[in-house]
Order: sequence, then C-alpha cells, then structure tokens
Amino acid sequence: MDRCPLVAGNWKMNGLIASLAEIAAMGTAYDLALKKKVELIICPPATLIGLALDVAMLNGIGLGGQDCHAAESGAHTGDISAEMLKDAGATYVILGHSERRADHGETDNIVRVKATAALRAGLKPIICVGETRHEREAGEALSVVGRQIEASLPGDAPGTIVVAYEPVWAIGTGLTPTLEDVAQMHAFARERIEARLGGGKSEDVRILYGGSVKPANARELMHVPNVDGALVGGASLTARDFMAIAEAYR
Ligand code: PGA
Repeated sequence: MDRCPLVAGNWKMNGLIASLAEIAAMGTAYDLALKKKVELIICPPATLIGLALDVAMLNGIGLGGQDCHAAESGAHTGDISAEMLKDAGATYVILGHSERRADHGETDNIVRVKATAALRAGLKPIICVGETRHEREAGEALSVVGRQIEASLPGDAPGTIVVAYEPVWAIGTGLTPTLEDVAQMHAFARERIEARLGGGKSEDVRILYGGSVKPANARELMHVPNVDGALVGGASLTARDFMAIAEAYR
C-alpha cells in the first residue's frame, strides 16, 4: 500500500488564456522535493488544455478534463470525448462531479459508462461521489455514498481509478465535515470500493477529499487516514492558494 497523494485543481468554468500564468507559477513552486511527496494536476476548461500542455509538462504538473462523453466520436454537438482529452494532453478526467449530476442530470449509470470510456482512452477517471445536506441530516450519508460507489465505478477497472468524496453541502460553501466524519466516510468508501473491485485493488485507489479545501484546513484534512489527497475548486485558481495546499505534503 503505497499511494502517492494527489492534489487536483478543478477550475470549473473559470480560466482564460491569461490564467495560464497561474499554472506557470505553480510549476515554479513545485520543486523536486515536493514532487516526490505529492502529484499535482490542474483540470482547466477544455479550451485551455492544449494551451497549458507545454507549461504544465515542463513543470511536472498533469492536466485533466472536467467531463467527457461516453462515445469515441460522432454526432454529439458540444461534447468532448475521452480520446480528444487524451489527444490534447490530459491524463485525468473528473467524472460525476455533483455540478454535472445536478446541472446535466448525470446518473451513476452515465458516470460509470463515461469512466469506462475514459479508461479505454487511457485516461484516469476521478469519480466524484458525495451526499447532499438533506441526505446527511437524514442520516443517509454512508448509504448514499455506498450506492454511488457501487453504481458509478466500472467493476473491472483496468488502469487507475481515483475516487473523490465531495459532500455536496461542503462545495464552495466554506463548510467542511468534522475530521471524524471524513475519517469514517473514507474508511467506508475504501470498503465499498473493495466490495466493487475485489482482489485487494481498493488499496491502490486514491480517495480524495473535496469541498472547501483551503490552505488553512489542508494539513489537518490531508492527514486523516484514507485521505489520499484533495480535489480543490476555488482555491485552485491561484498558484498562491493551490501551492499552499500542496505544501501540506512537504
Ligand atoms: P471548492 O470546490 O473547493 O470550491 O469547495 C470543490 C469541487 O467542487 O471540486
């Protein structure tokens, strides 16, 4: 069990060409010692992946997409395939983010099919799961996340899968679960991933925590057992905040 921590920045629908300067600045701060401790990726809007490739690769920062279509190509106006993301230079793709689930009606089934497409294209899917505030208050957080893991992960997962636990009520709100709740959920998630994949494979799956990760709380969150890194939204938009979070691993 030797999981290299991963800190992934999810830029969502933010970022213009000028924002590439932030990735360059992240690269400057990502020194050799830190590279040995933590893997860093940025998932910018798809318009920037190709443009970011040189500066990101030069500095050892990976790139990811924020979604992909399940088909390889074809009549799907406005969509982007996993093959296209890979071709543009991405190595990861976020799938099933709660904003995709809410805004685009993505179900666990859709997420699973997309994850299969991503693996086929040679991308590592970051599969997002997490309960709503209402579900947590109703005492259903574990059962909801268990069900999402069961239905969103491809059962025969070749390649590398990453799972991100992101309580919906913690995203962009400044709220976070208690460290005990995070520990409980991540231990439970690993159990459910093992039940899904079998053969001890869950030990290789990195489980990220996401939802209001900031420089101020990164260190305590990242040292919770079974937390193998972070999926960071707002605080990934600037090199200053993103690298302060990465520093939690130094
Ligand atoms: P946040 O977003 O860090 O801004 O809460 C996290 C996410 O949506 O991945």
